[in-house]
Amino acid sequence: MNPLVTSLLREDLRGRTAYGAPQLDVAVRLNTNENSYAVPADVAAAIAVAVAEVAGHLNRYPDREFTALREALAGYLRAQTGQPIEPEQVWAGNGSNEVLLHLVQAFGGVGRTALGFTPAYSMHPIITRTTGTTWVDGLRGAPTGAFDLDAAGAVAQVRHHQPHIVFLCSPNNPTGTALGLDVVQAVLDAARGSLVVVDEAYAEFARPGTPSAMTLLEDHPLLVVTRTMSKAFALAGARVGYLAASPDLVDALRLVRMPYHLSDPTQAIARAAIEHDASLLASVEAIKEQRDRIVAELDSLGYPPVPSDANFVLFGGLADEEATWQTLLDAGVLVRDVGLAHHLRVTAGTASETDAFLAAVSDLPDSHRQSPTREES
Ligand code: PMP
Repeated sequence: MNPLVTSLLREDLRGRTAYGAPQLDVAVRLNTNENSYAVPADVAAAIAVAVAEVAGHLNRYPDREFTALREALAGYLRAQTGQPIEPEQVWAGNGSNEVLLHLVQAFGGVGRTALGFTPAYSMHPIITRTTGTTWVDGLRGAPTGAFDLDAAGAVAQVRHHQPHIVFLCSPNNPTGTALGLDVVQAVLDAARGSLVVVDEAYAEFARPGTPSAMTLLEDHPLLVVTRTMSKAFALAGARVGYLAASPDLVDALRLVRMPYHLSDPTQAIARAAIEHDASLLASVEAIKEQRDRIVAELDSLGYPPVPSDANFVLFGGLADEEATWQTLLDAGVLVRDVGLAHHLRVTAGTASETDAFLAAVSDLPDSHRQSPTREES
């Protein structure tokens, strides 16, 4: 970087790395947890009509309060979670990343801290730091070293750090497992007076019997549950994320958003998609089948998978994850190196993508396996 640029850049951003999941032109792309199923033709046609309808009015700013979209999102959440969610409890942005940014802009800032439990979604610390908020890297699995976050471990860390914001991620990216509501409840109790964000980007893929943190909204004015249309809804390209929280909390987000932040086409696309939710969400069951197949097969291939409630699987048992990532890429399969020693993450997509991934893994020479002796040496 030009030294003039470096010297003017905010000190806390110097030397930081930007988010950078590779966007490579590879046959089988299983590295960013997109939905591999294309938008069905009838839904794509409805979206095109909806966008055409607003095209002639683009001389005007869009509805700043995205009223019709909020009504549609609240209706979807009521049906999906069984909770009495009203439009004034819903907020949306250009991807859930923007919704998370609004939260940290409003409730974080210089001199304030946010706590997350690593490994979790890599953007939580990046978004947090853009606002000058201090990020605290908490740990999952202490004292077992596994990836599960238990109530006692989470509560101890919340009490110790006393953060203004706590990030939970359920199902957790990159590990895949959903949190029990006991953990969310325990964190809410320990973090009274702080914002508790539960990132449920992958909620629709959870195994049966996994409750949403939306069920706790009524009693907790500082609880926020974020969702996205990028995963189950197969709309990553549209950039629509949203959240549910108490009306007052949602109201506060107006203080930090840019006016008219959701364009008319974005609102139109999202509304058309929700009108066709059954058709769009039909891929969820097929993806869960592939996920469960990946878990079962990796287990029998001797690369231990982490139980998953999401559309991806984290697996271990690798001698050198960077070398395996490259070998799989050379075989035409792009997966994700999430920076966890001996592990890689793969998105569950179509059956033929799973075939290609599993074939590439079966073809890995034995040198890719993490052996106990190799570990010790
Ligand atoms: N939360 C989690 C846990 C994610 O994995 C992602 C995307 N990978 C997001 C939020 C953000 O997604 P988007 O901005 O597309 O809604």
